[in-house]
Amino acid sequence: MSGLPPFETHCVDNQPPDFAPRDLWSTDIALREAIQANGAGGFAGDIAAYARLAGDTLYRLSFDAHRDRPQLRTHDRFGHRIDRVEFHPSYHAVMQAAIEHGAAGLSWRDGRPGAHVARAALSYLHCQVEPGTSCPLTMTHAAVPVLRREPGLREWAEKATAPHYDPREVPIADKAGITLGMGMTEKQGGSDVRANTTIATPLGSPGEYALVGHKWFFSAPMSDGFLVLAQAPGGLTCLLMPRRMPDAAKNAFRLLRLKDKLGDWSNASSEVEFTGAWARRIGEEGRGIATILEMVMLTRLDCMLGSAALMRMALAQALHHCRHRHAFGKPLIEQPLMRNVLADLAIETEGALSLSMRVARAVDAAPGDPREAAFARIATAIGKYWICKRAPAFVNEAQECLGGNGYVEESLLPRLYRQAPLNSIWEGSGNIQCLDVLRALSKEPETGAALWDELQGAGAVVDTTIGRLRAPLMEQAPFDEAGARRLVEDVALALQASVLVRSGSPMADAFCRSRLAEPHRLAFGTLASGIDTDAILVRAL
Ligand SMILES: Cc1cc2nc3c(=O)[nH]c(=O)nc-3n(C[C@H](O)[C@H](O)[C@H](O)COP(=O)(O)OP(=O)(O)OC[C@H]3O[C@@H](n4cnc5c(N)ncnc54)[C@H](O)[C@@H]3O)c2cc1C
Repeated sequence: MSGLPPFETHCVDNQPPDFAPRDLWSTDIALREAIQANGAGGFAGDIAAYARLAGDTLYRLSFDAHRDRPQLRTHDRFGHRIDRVEFHPSYHAVMQAAIEHGAAGLSWRDGRPGAHVARAALSYLHCQVEPGTSCPLTMTHAAVPVLRREPGLREWAEKATAPHYDPREVPIADKAGITLGMGMTEKQGGSDVRANTTIATPLGSPGEYALVGHKWFFSAPMSDGFLVLAQAPGGLTCLLMPRRMPDAAKNAFRLLRLKDKLGDWSNASSEVEFTGAWARRIGEEGRGIATILEMVMLTRLDCMLGSAALMRMALAQALHHCRHRHAFGKPLIEQPLMRNVLADLAIETEGALSLSMRVARAVDAAPGDPREAAFARIATAIGKYWICKRAPAFVNEAQECLGGNGYVEESLLPRLYRQAPLNSIWEGSGNIQCLDVLRALSKEPETGAALWDELQGAGAVVDTTIGRLRAPLMEQAPFDEAGARRLVEDVALALQASVLVRSGSPMADAFCRSRLAEPHRLAFGTLASGIDTDAILVRAL
């Protein structure tokens, strides 16, 4: 056979090179500016190191962690209940990297100002490459202030902030670091947790209870402990339920099955029954919702960051493809209509990132600044609603920029697309966020005042827009529930514009013109002529 030419049918041409490895820090000017603008410049070196790891090793590992979904083993080979979830080794490697770099604990263990913003940046980077693991990471992070309320739970709080990942199923005394989950949603009601029927019966010792009941959604069930809502004699109460008892015995709960989910495949979400599980009360009986809300405020911030991250990664993939792919005689990125689409997506991405980081700064400042605390309270609900709502349509648009390749798993875009709707559903769905904004405005007038303060004086376009928002924000007018989404959308856009203007972002003008001066059209890629798409794309690239 020698001497014959090799049998090649065609030359592979006009396809982009591999996306990764990619330095997610040096390629993201908006992130670098946001870190500085929000007082976390001192953490830049740590964030940059994680960005390089995320865009290389973690990006690679994420494909296995996602494809080989977690498996529930209810029993061992002899028939004993074990209720264990097994993961691909890449899942553990990704978790380990995130925890060691501070994606769950940095904000609580580093006393420097800006630590919450720095942790938010780590979370933003992490979610770009492996958003499934963000669920146990965010719950671990968000549980800390609740655990710190109880002096008896100091070991739990300290180990939740530690830079150590230990997936072994042993009592926490044998571990240097732990993870946490959360159980609120039951079959008969998730948004309305007052409908919870799980019973917490006091045991002999003070603060100790036995749980009987169920949870319909119970994510990260291999966590070391869970904050659970249950009905105690004094009403709905927050309790910490460990996975293993101090003597290493298995606590009395059963994992029934794992949810077969649209996306979020690397993360296990289970259904669980409590069969007399031992738990310890946090806060007073009857104060469960108020207690756990402190945790939920923080997980909602991570939903904003998570959606902003999905948008950023989807945009980066779209830009990469369009730079290298030619059609009709030139690179896609030089086609005027494609430039309009990409520029519009870039504007949206920066609005999402800037608002998320501004809220992280408010969380940082909140303990010593009531105005920032009030701002964080209401801006979290506004941002959670709007940014998470924008993500699915955004990711689909970015996917389309890749043409057929964007519909194929290896491109990452299908994974981002399946993940995108989740942030708007969990941790309080869209309507719940909008109703929460109305509740804050009517019951906590300092929130409306903080918002108004933030919006004023951010330039002519923002000032013109916010005129009609003064009454709802400042006068606690009777609210029309049915109109809550209209109000929150208006406030969200004004807030994103104001944050961009105040931070001196070169995107501010384009954001104001395309989202405030005239209403944005229903599809992306509808920027009016006169917006400088060249400058926007140079920045985004
Ligand atoms: C993958 C995944 C993982 C999850 N993990 C966990 C977990 O670990 N722990 C946990 O506790 N929960 C978890 N959840 C549950 C999640 O938080 C709930 O599904 C969510 O809060 C909505 O509750 P629900 O499903 O009961 O819907 P419902 O409460 O029935 O709401 C359905 C819809 O009605 C809307 N609605 C509700 N009340 C009103 C109203 N008054 N006015 C207008 N509209 C309203 C909601 O916004 C929503 O759109 C998870 C969910 C998913 C999808």
